[in-house]
Amino acid sequence: MTVRSFHPPQRTLMGPGPSDVNPRILEAMSRLTIGHLDPAFVGMMDEVKGLLKYAFQTENELTMPVSAPGSAGMESCFVNLVEPGDKVIICQNGVFGGRMKENVERCGGTAVMVEDSWGDAVDPQKLEDALKANPDAKVVAFVHAETSTGAQSDAETLVEIAHQYDCLTIVDAVTSLAGTPLKVDEWKIDAIYSGTQKCLSCTPGLSPVSFSERALDKIRNRQTTVQSWFLDLNLVMGYWGGGGKRAYHHTAPVNALYGLHESLVILQDEGLENAWARHHKHHLALRAGLESMGLGFVVDEAHRLPQLNAITIPEGVDDAAVRTALLQDYSLEIGAGLGVMAGKVWRIGLMGHACNTRNVLFCLAALEDVLGRVGAKYERGVAVNAAEKVLAAA
Ligand SMILES: *Cc1c(COP(=O)(O)O)cnc(C)c1O
Repeated sequence: MTVRSFHPPQRTLMGPGPSDVNPRILEAMSRLTIGHLDPAFVGMMDEVKGLLKYAFQTENELTMPVSAPGSAGMESCFVNLVEPGDKVIICQNGVFGGRMKENVERCGGTAVMVEDSWGDAVDPQKLEDALKANPDAKVVAFVHAETSTGAQSDAETLVEIAHQYDCLTIVDAVTSLAGTPLKVDEWKIDAIYSGTQKCLSCTPGLSPVSFSERALDKIRNRQTTVQSWFLDLNLVMGYWGGGGKRAYHHTAPVNALYGLHESLVILQDEGLENAWARHHKHHLALRAGLESMGLGFVVDEAHRLPQLNAITIPEGVDDAAVRTALLQDYSLEIGAGLGVMAGKVWRIGLMGHACNTRNVLFCLAALEDVLGRVGAKYERGVAVNAAEKVLAAA
């Protein structure tokens, strides 16, 4: 059988990522491929670095995209900052904290876990207690925006506590970047990683990272070489570093970087604060609609992420059947629960380009229909009306 070209169906992506990609980004990615050491390309790389500094709100010189997805950005932070024997305190309140533990152990470090319930924010008091009990800890790591539950932790406070005990900090900002306030320099974060397919609404496959001078000091003065050749920042810096001299390290994903450049131009034109406000406004509208249908949030109001809305699946409703109906009848993707939340929650993303009035109303109308078919009792239009009221008042 002859295989034909692949044409993906047109979807609306309102899950935990990837989110809907702005067509401007796809168009940018289809532009001509040039050499990755071409002066024109190197100039664009410098612009990407500058725009990423803006997105992260940092002056860190080492701010760049790792040529691989968010998980590689995570690994890049851990393999460079953790040496064999190092003790690392990990605050876990969902799936992604568990991956941090895996990373620490594979680097030969010892992970001390500080656990909070899934759906809760990280408790700063528990971190402080763990630091008191482990005065030899070198690094503290936590997830700013836990995509598995929709909980947001107080990154500024957690970093401040870690620094009081002389620890470096590694922060997962894969879902928070560009969706909710994040200020790398003001909050004094030492190492941070993100992804392109969440609130930047770019295609998946790149991981913006940023490292403070303090983190770089540690990396330059390591006792051992970094066990990953590809992610060793001492080598990567020769390619992404300043000064215009670029030594070949690996072939950058040229067209993927055109896409990131375009997504960051879009963010710059909208303005970071405006992007944060847009996520907040549409979250409030979506929330009003969901609550009018009797659907409840997993996370307390004070710690809810606007861009990731985890809601409890009503008693007796078939998780997979609803998601399948949304996909087949509305071409709408929402997220399933992860880990201990599998089968218990849906995760509705309002990320980046997908965070707009049309999508909020569309998703609510689709849910009204599909849940109505499986027996939910409410007046048709109730959710859309509730959301429209919030949007009109905003
Ligand atoms: C999506 C996500 C990741 C992993 O990113 P990939 O691009 O899938 O590798 C890591 N941490 C958090 C919080 C995420 O939401």
